[in-house]
Amino acid sequence: MKRLLILGCTGSIGTTTLDALRANPGLCEVAGLSCNSNFSVLPALAKEFGCDCVASPAATDAFRFQAEKAGLRVFTDVGELIRGSGSDLVLNGISGAAGLTATYTALNQGIDVALANKESMVMAGEILNNLAGQRGCRIIPVDSEHSAIYELVKAFGFQSIDKLIITASGGPFRNLSRSELKGITVERACGHPTWKMGRKISIDSATMANKGLEIIEAGRLFNVASQRIQAVIHPQSCVHSMVSLKNGQTYAQMSQPTMTFPILNAIFDGFGMEADRQFSPALFDVLSEVTLEFRRIDTERFPLVRCAYDCLNNGSWYPIVFNAADEIAVQAFVDGRIGFEEIDTSVVRILERASFTGTPETVEDVLMYDSLARELSRSVIC
Ligand code: NDP
Ligand code: MG
Repeated sequence: MKRLLILGCTGSIGTTTLDALRANPGLCEVAGLSCNSNFSVLPALAKEFGCDCVASPAATDAFRFQAEKAGLRVFTDVGELIRGSGSDLVLNGISGAAGLTATYTALNQGIDVALANKESMVMAGEILNNLAGQRGCRIIPVDSEHSAIYELVKAFGFQSIDKLIITASGGPFRNLSRSELKGITVERACGHPTWKMGRKISIDSATMANKGLEIIEAGRLFNVASQRIQAVIHPQSCVHSMVSLKNGQTYAQMSQPTMTFPILNAIFDGFGMEADRQFSPALFDVLSEVTLEFRRIDTERFPLVRCAYDCLNNGSWYPIVFNAADEIAVQAFVDGRIGFEEIDTSVVRILERASFTGTPETVEDVLMYDSLARELSRSVIC
């Protein structure tokens, strides 16, 4: 039976994963669990899922003392948990750049990674692909669009595919003009119309920075040039991605907007597609009177989509700057230092000012460029 290590178990991806396992006991063993500041829930979750090791970088000495007395192994370094848990699949549901080291450590150990943390591929896609190749392990996407493409590639073969088409809901403000974005609160920005997700990715969906990250993620996961990736607005979020084949036919993957399928597909290698009903969330009802719409993305209105294409084309440190600038800008918005409408304009300004030399060749290099990009971003945003 598969031994699954769940990183970010208290987040949106983590709790959806735990709920899917709760609904289907005995599917896989949980090898360990990690989170950050919500570490107090770890002992109860470890007991429920029968594992004996947990990690949190924020764990206090008092917590460690108590948890270790109760028989748990507690790590403050997620890398140590990965090395020590004896897992054969790591589900990385950590948010932000903090997830990169975990992806790297798991692949370096030769462990397959079910990757929700898109930042890993955005920041270090080529390095991680090479590492997975050297260690003979796989990076399996969890992001719904990429999971859909992964399954479509399995169905039709990579060689037969011409173009990847990834969909975007357009977020809660897709019908607002730029001048209507003033005064938007964090709460409104997090009110995604179709998906329930963590705060950062929800805000990123509202600016479409998320689609930008996903365009770069797709380029790196599937090793395709930007011209072969098309992103379109699809407000209903039922079609998660499409592939256009070289023979002129286009195939779509559809389901209700739920992360349960991509997570189960990643853990069980397409298992979600053959799942017994009990594994499945509500089935997609073709008679539910949903009208499927597809629209071009207006990149004047959503400039980060255009920036992401540029960053994918430029390669090198550009995607790292895109990601770091967006993390800093989103945090500034959450802290009330900039308005919602200034998130994307700040990222554009930071990218215009970035002029680093060299190219990242190792994960250490990536982290160095990331910290330079954050320094620059803080000086631009103040
Ligand atoms: P959440 O904010 O809901 O959860 C983040 C998780 O990561 C929490 O468990 C958090 O722990 C943990 N964490 C945060 N910082 C650190 C750190 N420095 N070290 C270790 N653990 C940390 O995020 P989501 O679940 O929404 O997203 C997770 C990732 O998945 C992101 O990269 C996102 O882009 C991607 N993704 C998410 C989707 C979704 O539906 N939510 C869909 C597709 C991709 P704690 O609770 O203790 O703070
Ligand atoms: Mg996605």
